[in-house]
Amino acid sequence: MASSAPTATVEEQGGGVVRIAMPFAGFDAGLNVHLVRGDGPLTLVDAAAALPGVSRMLSGALATLGLTYADIEQVVLTHHHLDHIGLTGEVVAAGGARVVANAAVAEVLADPPAHFHGELEWGIAQGRRHGGPDAMMDGARTALPYTTAIPAVLVDHVVDEGDRFAAGDLTLTTVLRPGHSPSDTLFVDQDAGLSFVGDHLWDGSPVTPVLGSMSGPRPAAEYVAGLARTRELTDHRLLAGHGATVDDVAGLHDERLAGLETRIDRARTALTDEPTSTWELGSGIWRPSSSGYRGPARLSALLAALELLAARGQAVEEHDGELVRWRRGG
Ligand SMILES: [Zn+2]
Repeated sequence: MASSAPTATVEEQGGGVVRIAMPFAGFDAGLNVHLVRGDGPLTLVDAAAALPGVSRMLSGALATLGLTYADIEQVVLTHHHLDHIGLTGEVVAAGGARVVANAAVAEVLADPPAHFHGELEWGIAQGRRHGGPDAMMDGARTALPYTTAIPAVLVDHVVDEGDRFAAGDLTLTTVLRPGHSPSDTLFVDQDAGLSFVGDHLWDGSPVTPVLGSMSGPRPAAEYVAGLARTRELTDHRLLAGHGATVDDVAGLHDERLAGLETRIDRARTALTDEPTSTWELGSGIWRPSSSGYRGPARLSALLAALELLAARGQAVEEHDGELVRWRRGG
């Protein structure tokens, strides 16, 4: 019987970096893990998802390079999401790779079930505060068995802003850039012009600058400011967690921000003098989604727009018990 199981593609990126790109359910842009080779530790940047078939794809891609998990000396993590930390424990168990990540990621990996249960509860409460139906978090509930099955892993080297370490032929500097998630980290090699950016900025997601609104309070302004600093990496290749490597950093940034301004304007137009919940406002704006129910992503996108409007004085947030409502400002 011919095998039709999906496989990863392997592509040189320069500087000893290889992109291992895997198909990933629901994501046209797929899922990336980067391998860094050279004189320093053989490094994986991110460790994909602990979902059926993913480990087989990743280990299969490494095998085409003559490598196994046991050869990996270091795993560097860009943020704490399921699709980037999932196989860390499996790689470490195979060969004792040291794990490098910031304190927020280390805290999640110390007890993934507790963290991901908490994140789901937070999302449910956040949805309710903004008038969303309880079913809004169904997707996150579906993923919970996978997130809570991620084994606890000790982060051997907890890095903070400015910390430097070797990875293959690169010397990476740690840059904290929360926004997409509270734990987002960039790992930058200025001389090589290569930056690992996780999901901070990638080509193929129009909602990139918003997801943080579902995983922490008021991150939209911080995210936009962080993206503006990332735009300064104009001569860099951005090695992202999903999709192709980004060579036109300023162009992609500006495209994202233009899209954000469009969403902000749509939210501004929807506001009236009558206080309205975020979900109710969204119901008047959102079109039916062809790719299924995307409640949390849409709600967080709208929330980000409203947060930014409030900062401009064009929206006012009101609290009615637990419920948050918005009205026109100014
Ligand atoms: Zn991701």
